[in-house]
Amino acid sequence: MPVALFDTTTALAPLRAQIDAAIADVVAQRRFILGPQVAAFEEEFARYCGTRHAVGVANGTDALTIALRAMGVGPGDEVIVPSFTFYATAEAVPATGGRPVFCDVDLDTHCITADTVAAALTPATKAVVAVHLFGNLAPVAEIEALGVPVLEDAAQAAGTRGPGGDRPGALGRAATFSFFPSKNLACFGDGGAITTDDDALADDARMLRFHGSRDKVTYEHVGYNSRLDELQAAILRVQLPQLDAWADGRRAGARHYADAGLGELVALPAASPRSEPAWHLYVVRSERAEELAAGLPAHGIGCKAYYRTPVHRQPAMLPFAAGVELPVTDELARTHLALPMSPVLSAEQAAEVTAAVRAVLGRS
Ligand SMILES: *Cc1c(COP(=O)(O)O)cnc(C)c1O
Repeated sequence: MPVALFDTTTALAPLRAQIDAAIADVVAQRRFILGPQVAAFEEEFARYCGTRHAVGVANGTDALTIALRAMGVGPGDEVIVPSFTFYATAEAVPATGGRPVFCDVDLDTHCITADTVAAALTPATKAVVAVHLFGNLAPVAEIEALGVPVLEDAAQAAGTRGPGGDRPGALGRAATFSFFPSKNLACFGDGGAITTDDDALADDARMLRFHGSRDKVTYEHVGYNSRLDELQAAILRVQLPQLDAWADGRRAGARHYADAGLGELVALPAASPRSEPAWHLYVVRSERAEELAAGLPAHGIGCKAYYRTPVHRQPAMLPFAAGVELPVTDELARTHLALPMSPVLSAEQAAEVTAAVRAVLGRS
């Protein structure tokens, strides 16, 4: 049986009638923008994350830009970001007038560390974007101990638990989420959110998402038209109560891979200390990653190298990357490969993927 890289349908199937009813209800009420569904989702998502506030926005990229601006980032400021991440993490910084400064990551967790951030700190550093990459957890407290505020990019980490049960979203000064259809918590289109305990920051984010206006009469800032819409919020509200069970399914999927012996063939991702990642992508390392990427599809196994060209080597980022050397990022870019992961990845599927990896590598 083929095993797809993603399975976004099996876990949703039992919710289909509830989602259809929620959509029908929004259509019947004819409130589509900043109405009761968004307000209710913001309250429920803030409670889930353990923060005072959640602010719904149009997507995870806008969430980053708006959160950075609400943290005071502007022209002349530097923001430290990883290069081994989705492009949007860095793209959000020039959009504020600030400048991305790229730092390296840890080979085993794929996340930035206090050491890699310290190497990129300057007197102009205004903030750090800590990406909880692939669902793993970046060490937010250790980075904040350097004396610089952290914005968590938790786009891939909904459902992850940190030390003491704290969740991404509540670990830094603020956090951003994406509800793009392939993410751990996903809408039927684009969506995003900012979470924070900081009342003033939340207020500024709400102002910026509505054209820089607090009262819809006076426009204090050049802002954005960036809202989570009512249909998407209604769809997310049906799914949120399932998120922890889905995250448990992703953790079980990782255990199935380990039990199947995948770690004897390729390097498995390491969970950060005391964290329980809701693996968004299950990313392994191999010197033979390209052979695997070429060979696995013939066995019916989905796989993908997401970040072969890291962000600091992307054409648009070259003006910000002069002289930047990130050896671990380059090694990960060259050797990483995502294997199938979902809330319902079974032991049989993990064994099948592992057997295909073994076959492609010619190991018995
Ligand atoms: C998906 C993602 C984003 C962007 O989210 P969109 O909703 O697609 O704008 C940002 N950062 C990371 C790490 C992501 O995975």
